[in-house]
Amino acid sequence: MAYQQNRGGQSRSSRPTGGNRSFGGGGGRRGGGGNRGPAKKFIHPSKFINKAVAKADEVVYESKHKFADFPFGAQLHHNVASKGYETPSAIQDQAIPFIIDGKDVIGLANTGTGKTAAFLLPIIERQSGITLRPSVLIMAPTRELAQQIDEQFREFSKGLDLYSTLIVGGVNIDRQIRDLKRRPHVIIGTPGRLKDLMKRRVLQLKNMTTLVLDEADRMLDMGFLPDIRQIITEMPRERQTLFFSATITPEISALVNEFLNDPVTVSVRTSETSEHVEQDVIESRDKTHKIEILTEMLRGDDYDKVLVFGETKFGVQRLSDHLDNSGIPSVAIHGNKNQSQRQRALKQFKDERVRVLVATDVAARGLDIPNVSHVINFDTPQTYEDYIHRIGRTGRAGASGKAHTFIDRR
Ligand code: AMP
Repeated sequence: MAYQQNRGGQSRSSRPTGGNRSFGGGGGRRGGGGNRGPAKKFIHPSKFINKAVAKADEVVYESKHKFADFPFGAQLHHNVASKGYETPSAIQDQAIPFIIDGKDVIGLANTGTGKTAAFLLPIIERQSGITLRPSVLIMAPTRELAQQIDEQFREFSKGLDLYSTLIVGGVNIDRQIRDLKRRPHVIIGTPGRLKDLMKRRVLQLKNMTTLVLDEADRMLDMGFLPDIRQIITEMPRERQTLFFSATITPEISALVNEFLNDPVTVSVRTSETSEHVEQDVIESRDKTHKIEILTEMLRGDDYDKVLVFGETKFGVQRLSDHLDNSGIPSVAIHGNKNQSQRQRALKQFKDERVRVLVATDVAARGLDIPNVSHVINFDTPQTYEDYIHRIGRTGRAGASGKAHTFIDRR
């Protein structure tokens, strides 16, 4: 191997314990160019190392309910079974009964926990008695996440005569206007485009009975709060609100107080995110060396489905181009790509036609990409929380996963 890799703290000179003197304590990294956001927080490299917890040590969630316990119609039960769901995940097990009861719910859950079905199934069940449409609004931070929710909605509502419309930016608005005129039951969208359509008076919210805010923390990070607020004030006060977030910050609590009514909280945040992901650092001298190491690694056989994170749109595209030129086909997703390009890239990766996806944090947010074998942090994340988010893409549902993080050689 042409690269030096630490193995869970057993390695030679590069063992990353014993203080952070050579990492400068400031955390800022240079090289790579492009526009930087806020200053990076310093994360000690030892936090990027973890020996995966053996599978036997994992606590398997014991679901209290079976899907059959939920009062769904036969067709919905059939659709759930057709998707291959056998037992409810923790968030489904705990949140569905409250949602069926009509309670406002705060779901503390990350992507990959099954939260989408947790809110979609009761919503679909409830649609049968509803004549005033549209009655459900689901807001998500990114186009991709909204699209994934829409895809799941379509699968779960097969044979039920229910319709949804996807309202996201970056695609033709006229078609969305036409779709809205047909009065779908459910609207799934991102705040910016929803607000546009509301201003044009094409989107009417007065018959809404249910509001879902998915990945609320991310929506706030992305600056959607004013849009969200404007949209919600147009909705009836008498409604059910379901609020999903991976974190609770003071800002999130304020939002909850403002928009939810006597909510119950269901938390399924567990160590799911990192404990069973084998994590390690790779030292590199400089950017060129880092690219050399990465290219060499990706030639390895066990790198089946690799998600590489970069910091900037330009850096991500450059890296993807470089890999292509080195004979390692890759696709990239970042903010400079339009919706259909991002969608195509994601599909190629999901369908395993391309082994490597290079992405920025924002573009990858909330995406459900199953069975990622490796997450590689080509650039270190802004915060430790972002790190946990990134590596949560691998080692899902009990599968083993590996995460490698590049750090500067001392
Ligand atoms: P989500 O957290 O909603 O993005 O879901 C993550 C993935 O888990 C999706 O691919 C779902 O289809 C899948 N999933 C959700 N709930 C279940 C379940 N009860 N059984 C099996 N797979 C599930």
